[in-house]
Amino acid sequence: MAKIKAIRGMNDILPEATPVWQYLETTVKDVVAAYGYSEIRMPLVEQTDLFKRSIGEVTDIVEKEMYTFRDRNDESLTLRPEGTASCVRAGEEHGLLYNQTQRLWYTGPMFRYEKPQKGRYRQFHQIGVETFGMASADIDAEVIMLSARLWKKLGILDAVTLQLNSLGSNEARAEYRAALVEYLEARKDQLDEDSVRRLESNPLRILDSKDENTQALLDQAPVLSDYLDDESREHFSELCALLDAAGIRYELNPRLVRGLDYYCKTVFEWVTDKLGAQGTVCAGGRYDGLVKQLGGRPTPAVGFAMGIERLILLLETLDVVPSSVRQSFDVYLAAEHKGLQGQVIALAEQLREELPGLRVRVHCAGLKNISAKARQTGAPIVLLVKATDDNQLAGALWCGEEPRFDIAQADLSREINAVWNA
Ligand code: ATP
Ligand code: MG
Repeated sequence: MAKIKAIRGMNDILPEATPVWQYLETTVKDVVAAYGYSEIRMPLVEQTDLFKRSIGEVTDIVEKEMYTFRDRNDESLTLRPEGTASCVRAGEEHGLLYNQTQRLWYTGPMFRYEKPQKGRYRQFHQIGVETFGMASADIDAEVIMLSARLWKKLGILDAVTLQLNSLGSNEARAEYRAALVEYLEARKDQLDEDSVRRLESNPLRILDSKDENTQALLDQAPVLSDYLDDESREHFSELCALLDAAGIRYELNPRLVRGLDYYCKTVFEWVTDKLGAQGTVCAGGRYDGLVKQLGGRPTPAVGFAMGIERLILLLETLDVVPSSVRQSFDVYLAAEHKGLQGQVIALAEQLREELPGLRVRVHCAGLKNISAKARQTGAPIVLLVKATDDNQLAGALWCGEEPRFDIAQADLSREINAVWNA
């Protein structure tokens, strides 16, 4: 019988990889905590309409990337392709949004039916930050500063660049869209196939076409910044001033539009040139219209999501994960012969009790060549337990190359503590 395998594009995260995931997640938790953000957890499955109404019917995600199915009650459900829509739905449903401010973050798997490749998967993971109820540019600056602090903590700040743009108000964008369509309609024969299709459905997406001819054509096209309304222009210059003051470097990218329909004013991406085509590690912006669009009262909002897999690829590529992160235990504890196993287990419990935080792994298999085997585990501390003539326990302790023999039972915990903290 053929063995059952994982679904294409959906990865197991194996024990050798999880320490780096945990390291990234812990670092993120510390950073969001430092800004006073609260965690929210949403279901993985939502009504399909939630994503159609928020992300937009003619976006790549809704047109071709969603995992949509009917449940036994014939309801159309979708595995969430992103977190913002669910977060707004949850906030609205539980009265978290009206007339108050919220700073939220979440993490978890997202699902998109894409062509799997390095940095692009069908189940992938995001960490997202969403803020509600704050309209001015200081909160746009805060979420960007939060992400920059995270890059700094992770040691990748030099490898990422912040790209920044403003999409303006809905009205300004509609006016620009009309001008862009008029310009491109007249040159339709020079556009790539995808862009021709988008000319009708989602013309702004043509701005980030990967096609060289299309990009060349855009050099002479109307630019969005010329169409910005005064309020958006003001908002954007305040944001830039705040980022300047915070010492955060950015590049203005007038063609940055983002693939989701709900953005207005600020949009940004953190990109790296170290990962090939999948270079965006974090993306976000302002979506003041979304809460209302989903049936709530008008509520300003700004947020971003980062791709955990891409960040981990970047950490690995730059080799910036502290080596201690990969070690999942501090002490490897083994008995010299089988009759001592009960006492070794008791000793391990005693160590866990006396030295909180110490990670003790007990050897629970055959004892042939145990001394060599225990040291091959790579544990920072190896303790091989034997019995003395008067039936006391004693240990041989390795910490690096030099063993220390015959440490008496009464001294074991103190000795281990000393080398552990050294
Ligand atoms: P891309 O242009 O790379 O498809 P996107 O614009 O669709 O990205 P968003 O919806 O803004 O991406 O998601 C935010 C982040 O989540 C991305 O910047 C990326 O880091 C990550 N991400 C998105 N799709 C995937 C995927 N299929 N596999 C892995 N990471 C992803
Ligand atoms: Mg995409």
